[in-house]
Amino acid sequence: MTDRRQYPVLSVEEARERILAFVAPTEKQSLPILQALGTTLYVDQVAETSIPPHNNSAMDGYAIRHVDLAADGETMLRVVGQVPAGSVWPGTLGAGEAVRIMTGAPMPAGADTVVRFEDARAEGSSVHLTRRPRQGADVRLAGEDVAPGQIVLRAGTRLGPAEIGMLASLGRPTVEVHRRPRVAILATGDEVAAIDEPLQPGKIRNINSYTNAAQAARAGAEPLVLEAAPDRREALQARLRQALDLRADLIITSGGVSVGDFDLVKQVLSSEGSLEFWWVNMKPGRPLAFGTLGGIPLLALAGNPVAAMLGMLLFGVPAIEHAAGLTRQPTVKLRARLAEPITHKDGRRHYLRVRLAPGADEPLARLTGDQGSGILTSMVEADALAIIPESVDHLEAGSLVEVIPLR
Ligand code: AMP
Ligand code: MG
Repeated sequence: MTDRRQYPVLSVEEARERILAFVAPTEKQSLPILQALGTTLYVDQVAETSIPPHNNSAMDGYAIRHVDLAADGETMLRVVGQVPAGSVWPGTLGAGEAVRIMTGAPMPAGADTVVRFEDARAEGSSVHLTRRPRQGADVRLAGEDVAPGQIVLRAGTRLGPAEIGMLASLGRPTVEVHRRPRVAILATGDEVAAIDEPLQPGKIRNINSYTNAAQAARAGAEPLVLEAAPDRREALQARLRQALDLRADLIITSGGVSVGDFDLVKQVLSSEGSLEFWWVNMKPGRPLAFGTLGGIPLLALAGNPVAAMLGMLLFGVPAIEHAAGLTRQPTVKLRARLAEPITHKDGRRHYLRVRLAPGADEPLARLTGDQGSGILTSMVEADALAIIPESVDHLEAGSLVEVIPLR
């Protein structure tokens, strides 16, 4: 039996740092940019050309020479052509001339300002301008968004819609990113039934395989969901071998990691791989283990569904993001005021499920009912977790607490 007392209880931060030390970023892969959504850039993206590529009109109107505008704001100019977006007006604008120009069309040579249609009246082959805009008004300059040689996206950036748009604007149909980490998801427990099998007496549905796989996918991983393992050592070993055969970069198990008679995960870890730590000073999810198997990091989460989700959020997601090559950003701390008093005296850090509502200054955080670690509705209704520090015994309603948004 693994004796709990051999293992020091770690803080959340200590546990996270120790896990990250075992996780390496994945290798590079070239992907069509749309398929790269949610992956992380492998190299800096440097612009070769200007964006926009040419000076162009920001409005529908008339391209003019600012020197031609009368000081009193009323000017007649001769209209010598028109230019829609996508075309180039071939001439050079002379004194007293204007070209009708559409949004996005290149500025004709010689023109430096656009007068909007709202400030102009066509009169035969001339135009009567009724306002005198500043020089350069409504002209978008070449390179005003991106200049040649500029690093527009850094290695380690996650690709979202805006980044993918930037790659499109650079004319790059494919991009080099970190391969999505492959994350094996393994639920354990004799009681855990598959989603589509009739529920026999004593059994429950497998929740964790689904919540953890969804969390992994959202974090940028490719989840590999294994069939749940019963609480038998050989069966558990066989499933874990499967994870290694699938070339997982990270293995996430749930259940079987506490002090129960059939909690085998950390035993398998300590005898067949390494058990680096066990036990984190948090609630829910204190029985949490980490080690390696066949050189692959393995995060063993507590089995209760809220505990498994929280363990994934605090440790699994950062590990996946690190494997995915994501540059770590300093966390922005958000605060809220407790809507109700909280008493807690066990010296652990509590993560309470709360719903946020607008408050007088900071948002108000209201508990989402029963905070038991098996109460999945408390997660479904939550949009944030409120952090109650280890040292706190009691907090009055209205106290400020740090919150982690969930959505
Ligand atoms: P364990 O950590 O194995 O002692 O499990 C703690 C609690 O979580 C028990 O009530 C289990 O039935 C429950 N549990 C474990 N695994 C899952 C799972 N995959 N889905 C839903 N509940 C689970
Ligand atoms: Mg179990």
